[in-house]
Amino acid sequence: MAELKHCPTCGEFFNYTGVREVCAKCQMDEEKMYETVYRFLRKRENRAANIDRIVEATGVSESLLHRWVRKGRLQPALFPNLGYPCDKCGALTNTGKLCAKCTDEIKQELNTHDAAVELREALKERDRATYYSQSDRKR
Ligand SMILES: [Zn+2]
Ligand SMILES: [Zn+2]
Repeated sequence: MAELKHCPTCGEFFNYTGVREVCAKCQMDEEKMYETVYRFLRKRENRAANIDRIVEATGVSESLLHRWVRKGRLQPALFPNLGYPCDKCGALTNTGKLCAKCTDEIKQELNTHDAAVELREALKERDRATYYSQSDRKR
């Protein structure tokens, strides 16, 4: 289903079909920029280039590079210093939505949460046990 959408790059309306995020004109510009970036990265000495270096050398915007990495057009496996910002802290990552640090933090928070629940359950058990033993004693 096509819908009319604002092109995020130039602001023109275009028919959005779920395939392209930008209008045809910008898409063509993007493809040209992608070619430029890809040609740059294919040179052995540029393999390890980071985003800043690519922006400097090709003039392509940082956000466009982030998008290509996120979509897998530029593969971190081939170009180890590429990435896109973590949803949480903005540090560069190349897997998932969060960087390794934030993933760890979330895991830890979850563990802490689990531990808190377990502790509460244990306390409840103990209270119940105390209650029963007391009422036992009364009888
Ligand atoms: Zn456009
Ligand atoms: Zn992060």
